[in-house]
Amino acid sequence: MINFNSVREIQDLLEINNLAMSKRFGQNFLISEQAREQLISLLDLTDDSKIWEIGPGIGAMSFDIARRAKSLYLFEIDKGFIRLLNENLVSNYPNTQIIEGDILKTWKSFLNPIDIPDVIFGNLPYYISGSIIEGFIEHNFLPKKMVFTIQKELAQRLCATANNKNFSYLSLVCQLDYKIEIIKTISKNCFYPIPEVESSIIEMRLKTSEDGFCREDFLLLAKDLFAARRKTIQNNLKSGNLAKKYDIDRIFKAFSDANIELSRRGETLEIGDYMEICKKLSQASC
Ligand code: SAM
Repeated sequence: MINFNSVREIQDLLEINNLAMSKRFGQNFLISEQAREQLISLLDLTDDSKIWEIGPGIGAMSFDIARRAKSLYLFEIDKGFIRLLNENLVSNYPNTQIIEGDILKTWKSFLNPIDIPDVIFGNLPYYISGSIIEGFIEHNFLPKKMVFTIQKELAQRLCATANNKNFSYLSLVCQLDYKIEIIKTISKNCFYPIPEVESSIIEMRLKTSEDGFCREDFLLLAKDLFAARRKTIQNNLKSGNLAKKYDIDRIFKAFSDANIELSRRGETLEIGDYMEICKKLSQASC
């Protein structure tokens, strides 16, 4: 096996196999052993663990996990990397399997509660990191843990709360089910090729979910209230999707029952307010 800390060895491996790295697929290998070890240590691996890795690349972290986990599913789009992984990893570790293609589509063939792994992790391709994480949670596909390397600014968006400029629909979606922690920021030099942006390792731990409200309503409301950030709640609601499901007066009543004024903006409401409004909405009758 090659030394994954060595740019020279990575370049040689690619050259021998007639492969090139593609900017289009957000390919930046994690060449810092310390960062890789930290990521892996967060997975809480046991010989019972079912793990999904998104974007394994040439397997810098995958070999270690394959040795220690019960199963490892690898979601990769690059045909050249898939060939290498098949030759070097899958042929030696029967507990591994590659799912070829675009993760945004391929993971959906596992959309069944019994297929939810213990942990989903990866040094994510930055151009779709937010959509990947959002997709799992929107579909109620909730592993106990998710551990990712993502762009630093995206990590800040995931953790942001009310009245912060980074607070967004994605913050609400992620915080609905997960306690999110930015474990550390990693320097650009930990990657090859060196990316333009800084990165953070984040850990997302599944929380006990709040009940008494409809999840679908929460997501619709969050999307509506961030559809146009500067618009009032009232205006966003009128043109939003929640109003296609409920009569607008019923929605307005839920806000008044929750003591939240319609002249405010969605970014000023705490996640608890969103839940409270949805609870009132399921009770409200007009
Ligand atoms: N895990 C490796 C590492 O840390 O060295 C590579 C990480 S690299 C940032 C992102 C990986 O995601 C690449 O292997 C890339 O080919 C893969 N990838 C990019 N877009 C993808 C997609 N839509 N679906 C699946 N994999 C994708």
